Amino acid sequence: MNDTVPRPPTGVGRTRVQEVAALAAASFPGGVNSPVRAFRAVGRDPVVLVRGEGAYVHDADGTRYLDYIGGWGPAILGHAHPAVVEAVRDAASRGFALGATHPSEVELASRVRAAMPSMELLRFTSSGTEAAMSALRLARAATGRDVVVKFAGAYHGHADAFLVEAGSGIATQGIPGSAGVTEAVARDTIVVPFNDREAVSLAFDRDPGRIAAVIVEPVAANIGVVPPVPGFLEHLRQVTLAHDALLIFDEVITGFRVGPRGAQGLYGITPDLTVLGKIVGGGMAIGAYGGRRDIMSLVAPVGPVYQAGTLSGHPLAMAAGIATLEQLPPERYALLEAVSAELERCLIAAARDAQRDVSVIRVGSLLTVWFGRVAPVDAAAALASDRAAFARFFGGMLDRRILLPPSQFEAWFVSLAHGGRELEATIDAASEAFRA
Ligand SMILES: *Cc1c(COP(=O)(O)O)cnc(C)c1O
Repeated sequence: MNDTVPRPPTGVGRTRVQEVAALAAASFPGGVNSPVRAFRAVGRDPVVLVRGEGAYVHDADGTRYLDYIGGWGPAILGHAHPAVVEAVRDAASRGFALGATHPSEVELASRVRAAMPSMELLRFTSSGTEAAMSALRLARAATGRDVVVKFAGAYHGHADAFLVEAGSGIATQGIPGSAGVTEAVARDTIVVPFNDREAVSLAFDRDPGRIAAVIVEPVAANIGVVPPVPGFLEHLRQVTLAHDALLIFDEVITGFRVGPRGAQGLYGITPDLTVLGKIVGGGMAIGAYGGRRDIMSLVAPVGPVYQAGTLSGHPLAMAAGIATLEQLPPERYALLEAVSAELERCLIAAARDAQRDVSVIRVGSLLTVWFGRVAPVDAAAALASDRAAFARFFGGMLDRRILLPPSQFEAWFVSLAHGGRELEATIDAASEAFRA
């Protein structure tokens, strides 16, 4: 792996990580293929990883880190789980993209539908971004309406309609959240605070008959972990039903993460459409969207909503997904919950011992250590947390070989490979890092 990257002629005293990072900077904007990998939010040099194994990752200099990034979610079994590796190897030996229906698609779909019965029909895509974008197109077609309501700080991939930020006011028409997103697109996205029932109702009062869908991460996990307050998801279900709008759950993170039936199973809410990704592909490129049969029947070739993909339902992604879900019977979630709860308890105790104002928020194996006295309920509160303190804590942990997600606003992903030894190492490091 190391030797596939050409070595630059420079570099007296340079480490391999530094060499690769320099070469990456010459090839990619910011040296990365996805922005968070640049570590800008924590002011450190990015890591260059060459190998993952269980709860650990190794960088290009051979340094081993205990990992809480978990590939940004998919690695719920830990990295390179033997059963998943074997399944992918086996599938690869029979060819990659064959460009036709493959039995593995049916098998993964039946597992998804058994776990989330609301997904009566579904489509596999190659990323969560594509799946969310397609779900919105479908919602617009199904309702004959244009507007989507999303929550401030929520991430649904990088399709234009979702790269929209809150304007001023409580329930506002959005403003472009990225250069290159037109104001016309942003006008059709309404951004409201997460956990704010009144703001959602107000949006519907102002635009009755124009809102196609509300899309929500049922547990917000891209502003740090922010659980829904009691009654919030129920309210979304009621208000969308009352206005003939659709409710879309973006379970790209929460699906197969917060429990065997995702957040919809955990909270007992049935959305009209669901978006999946990450775990369902076992670490391979994947997304999926699905839901009510009548709505999904609008998708081509049976219906008028076009959506396609050369690599959709890719046999290697299907194989990795199936092998991963096979390793996740309900009792393993109980184990994951126990380990994660213990981690939460110990982190709180370590922070208290170090006299740090920290709150730890956790839903299943998703966890955020907030630097601030109160745990945020929405994006505005999350932004008010002490990010400089988080950056120092991140650096302290990295120096002790614990790799946290490099932003206050990303969840820690605990895996089934995190056991007693890993918890102990994390807590020892955290106790020191909180004090420093
Ligand atoms: C990661 C993520 C996406 C986008 O998935 P990609 O595969 O990165 O395109 C969408 N929604 C949520 C909630 C995510 O966390």
